Amino acid sequence: MKTLKRFVLVGAPASGKGTQSSFLSDTYDLKPLSTGALLRAEIAAGSELGMEAKKYMDAAMFVPDEVVNGIVAKWLGENKDCGCLLDGYPRTVSQAETLDANLSQMGMEVDIVVYLNVALELIQARMLKRKACPKCGETTRNGEETCPKCGTEMIVRSDDNPEAFAKRWKDYESLTVPVIEHYQAQGKVVEIKVTEEGEPADVSARIAAAIRAYAEK
Ligand code: ADP
Repeated sequence: MKTLKRFVLVGAPASGKGTQSSFLSDTYDLKPLSTGALLRAEIAAGSELGMEAKKYMDAAMFVPDEVVNGIVAKWLGENKDCGCLLDGYPRTVSQAETLDANLSQMGMEVDIVVYLNVALELIQARMLKRKACPKCGETTRNGEETCPKCGTEMIVRSDDNPEAFAKRWKDYESLTVPVIEHYQAQGKVVEIKVTEEGEPADVSARIAAAIRAYAEK
């Protein structure tokens, strides 16, 4: 039985990473870090980091690797003893190599990569209905006015429009799919294919089954 402590969750924009991140962190007692939610919180707080990140996020571009690598390295250093879940990071092969090197310096490694492979048609439909909480990062699919977790007024993300989405999808395919391949080469990827719209809980159950099979391998 493998011991799984460092999880990475990868999927396209609007693939349901936020929802499954909550499931994974609750079920496996992991501390989650969503780089997208953290950057949005920095923007909401008006910090220098937030202002820098906003320029890229509003243009539907990736925030530069150095900026994101720095945030994650600091967070990992502060959370050495926890089981952890990285959501939305690494998003480029360069980020993956930095993560591997940083973890290896601490005597650790990525233990498992959960890859949510959701069909493009589903993602496009979801993106149009998606809202996000500017405070805690929760995302919803049904146009909720207030955050089900913390009650803050939900917003439509400035990068959730068809033009920005097309750019983010292209970046996902060209820059993030190679990250999946990077970890496939290390034998660490469990893939969950979603081809029909259904209940998030069903996807969670499939993830749990895939993780169990991987841990027992
Ligand atoms: P999504 O998965 O829908 O793209 P996220 O909340 O994960 O949403 O990210 C939103 C935005 O934050 C990204 O489009 C990008 O600009 C920025 N971002 C988040 N994580 C990273 C990362 N690892 N590297 C670069 N930019 C990032």
